[in-house]
Amino acid sequence: MLKLYNTLTRKIETFEPANMGEVSFYHCGPTVYWTQHIGNLRGMTMGDLLVRTLRYLGYTVTHVRNYTDVGHLSSDADTGEDKMERGAKREGLKPQEIADKYIRIFESDAAEINLLEPTHKSRATQYIGEMIDLVSELLAKGNAYETDLAVYFDISTFPGYTALSGQNLDDLVKGAGRAEVEDPAKRSPLDFAMWFFRTGIHVGALQYWPSPFRSRLAPDGSGFPGWHIECSAMSRKLLGATIDIHMGGVEHIPIHHTNEIAQSEAASGKKFVRYWLHNEHLVVDQGKMAKSAGTGMTLTEVKSRGFDPLALRYFFLSAGYRTRQNFTWDALTDAARGLIELRIQAARARGLGLERTALSEDKLAKVDRYRQQFTDALESDLNIPAGLATCWEVLKSNIPPGDKYDLLIEFDRVLGLNLAESAETSDKLISPPDLPADAQALFFRRQELRRQGNFTEADKLRGELGKMGFTVRDTPDGDSTIRKS
Ligand SMILES: [Zn+2]
Repeated sequence: MLKLYNTLTRKIETFEPANMGEVSFYHCGPTVYWTQHIGNLRGMTMGDLLVRTLRYLGYTVTHVRNYTDVGHLSSDADTGEDKMERGAKREGLKPQEIADKYIRIFESDAAEINLLEPTHKSRATQYIGEMIDLVSELLAKGNAYETDLAVYFDISTFPGYTALSGQNLDDLVKGAGRAEVEDPAKRSPLDFAMWFFRTGIHVGALQYWPSPFRSRLAPDGSGFPGWHIECSAMSRKLLGATIDIHMGGVEHIPIHHTNEIAQSEAASGKKFVRYWLHNEHLVVDQGKMAKSAGTGMTLTEVKSRGFDPLALRYFFLSAGYRTRQNFTWDALTDAARGLIELRIQAARARGLGLERTALSEDKLAKVDRYRQQFTDALESDLNIPAGLATCWEVLKSNIPPGDKYDLLIEFDRVLGLNLAESAETSDKLISPPDLPADAQALFFRRQELRRQGNFTEADKLRGELGKMGFTVRDTPDGDSTIRKS
């Protein structure tokens, strides 16, 4: 049975979807105003691993991963400028051109690290009608109020507002500073905007829609939605009032997801999410990876240093989703070596296993045991690192090569390292650890030089390896392979 850590109850719980065999999953996707850094890509990979795990375990999954292309202000709360507009001004483009551009880059990165396509990739600006409907319902029910600047959710109407974060409400109210541009008509500093009118600091908003809401300063109610209402409205439209799993980064717990719960549950009177999953961050030198801190590395930078995008995926597999993972180039180098080795061993097993012999009973039992071990790892709150370790155990075991290969390919449905594809093309390669020591040292030295951009020296080493009887080839994705000439 699959066990997952539910942030709401702070417990490991047995996962049971509301409808047997079917899982509805909403994953908060990127705000598409800039290239996503690899910390964001890790978060998206954790959602991908959840989907792959659920499918491996036999569930049908409806997976929504949205794009926020309006309404996410520079703070996660109600202050600052819309990030899309900032992007538009920076690049002299329209907000929707910015969204198109960065969705294209994100989707290309997502494909390179082998993220499965979600069932729905909902774009917030295409669901404005649903957002307006939801805000209207909350106004009608008395959970919201209008001021001249915005339509706010009234948190005093929603008991248990801080249930997800576990924070003390009184402390939060006391601690809430006066926002940069405070609305004097706001009833509580914690009330949050679901609709911003096109007035005040947002008078120059580039993206806006008419609405039925009333403001003396925005005659036709024109404005734009807040970030939180977007996820509530899109998940209701695509997955229904109650969803099985909602995932996002831990930073979403105190504001974004807390506000989503308040809106969705106040409107429907039903539980919004049955299992809340939150992934920890990728950190650099123990600090959160962030564009603002200059530590927001992109996949393009990773590739320009000679790494295969799937080496980054392999690196992500080496830490659980609830663990903070520290990024260093050395750690990525280790991951790249691990991936190359895994590919080579998979290719070798495939090559040796082309002629099959029947499995003896004890070997059959062993195959079953490894399969169970892999499943146990997944079911234990997605312990992917243990699943990956099982692959290495399989490779070291005395199971016949063909059956080893089959197991690896089966596990790769979750791991997503494209082992079958690489095995079919690389079974003549030599694993670097199998090289004679002098050749091995040259090979790794050469990879290091390429990563540092020292291609002249790297070319010299290729020549030396050639004299020793080895052919080195650099693949288009920045990796290097070696074989006997
Ligand atoms: Zn969201």
